[in-house]
Amino acid sequence: MDMIGCPTFSSQLVIDLSALRANYRVLRDHVSPAECAAVVKADAYGLGARPIVSALYREGCRTFFAAQLCEAMDLHPTLSVDCTIFILNGIDPGGEAAYADAGFVPVLNSHVQIERWRSEARRRCSALPAAIQIETGMSRLGISEAVVEQLAEDRSLSDELDLRLVLTHLACADEPRLPVNEEQLRRFHKLADRFPGVPRSIANSCGTFLSGAYHLELVRPGIALYGVPPQSEYLGIMPAVSLRSRIIQIRQLPGGSAVGYGHTYATPNSRRLATIGVGYADGWPRRLGNVGAAWFRDIRLPIVGRISMDSMTIDISDVAAGDLHEGDFVDLIGPMQSLEDVAGDAETIPYEILTQLGRRHARVYLDGNAGTALTPGDGR
Ligand SMILES: *Cc1c(COP(=O)(O)O)cnc(C)c1O
Repeated sequence: MDMIGCPTFSSQLVIDLSALRANYRVLRDHVSPAECAAVVKADAYGLGARPIVSALYREGCRTFFAAQLCEAMDLHPTLSVDCTIFILNGIDPGGEAAYADAGFVPVLNSHVQIERWRSEARRRCSALPAAIQIETGMSRLGISEAVVEQLAEDRSLSDELDLRLVLTHLACADEPRLPVNEEQLRRFHKLADRFPGVPRSIANSCGTFLSGAYHLELVRPGIALYGVPPQSEYLGIMPAVSLRSRIIQIRQLPGGSAVGYGHTYATPNSRRLATIGVGYADGWPRRLGNVGAAWFRDIRLPIVGRISMDSMTIDISDVAAGDLHEGDFVDLIGPMQSLEDVAGDAETIPYEILTQLGRRHARVYLDGNAGTALTPGDGR
């Protein structure tokens, strides 16, 4: 959907680029002298990869991770030549020429992907840049020990691949006490030793805060940049996202009035209800019907009834009459309700909430005091 030129909006996703940049500096300083890259897959977790990447570039970030070719292609015009884009899902059959022409670095996850990229290199008579992912205990992506050994013995590998990085991914980095983290690190070093001189990377956001042993040459945070700290007690990371929704209609109802699809809620007594312009098509989880809340200043406004596609109904009886009118805004993510709170109410993780929010809201990017209004059609 393209909202360029649309003069009003029902909801607004506010992205604080100065908070994003501050979060980058916290991470960068924490891991120095290791390099701090940025994971900007899924349109920078729904926040708009182009403005996010430009802001991070200004802080000195030069290495970015996308998941798919189309994401990298979308970023390509924004990036200057001193940047590197890794593509985490590797290479799809038929994508080789596009990767090679653009200079993208595929994260090769399987023997088949490696062989496909090597034949492209042979066809071009020149080594192609690559990263190799090694499987160390998550059973998701990456080559096995047997393939590592096979490649290590293969003398033509270095003629065909310009190996920029070897990496692996932690399965349980959010649980620092589990011994599996150290086991993966040990296993990774053992296998990465077979690619001497190639930089190594193991840490996502949580991994970055496990200990300095996980920083290696490069860390790959995503969610911490966008304001969700790895452990809630870690105070250096600040929220970067807020969401507000407009009130479409307000009504005063007598007790016993049924609300919404399926009549899952009835007013216990006389209540004042407001219907606001965010629903499940805006990425607000449907399971927050009769569970979650919106906020007005420090007043909690419970969601009543089911969430509709484009709207939901909240109880505003606790707000003094006259303080809220049709057309005013209430907060869905903000000082009183974090992304983590919303995810907790919806029994999911902040990643899922964040990545679903990006599509339909008008986006505003703040940097310092200056706000730049961008709508979903812009900046992506
Ligand atoms: C998504 C992803 C990251 C970033 O993870 P966060 O938890 O958001 O920091 C890093 N590495 C890989 C391989 C990923 O898929």
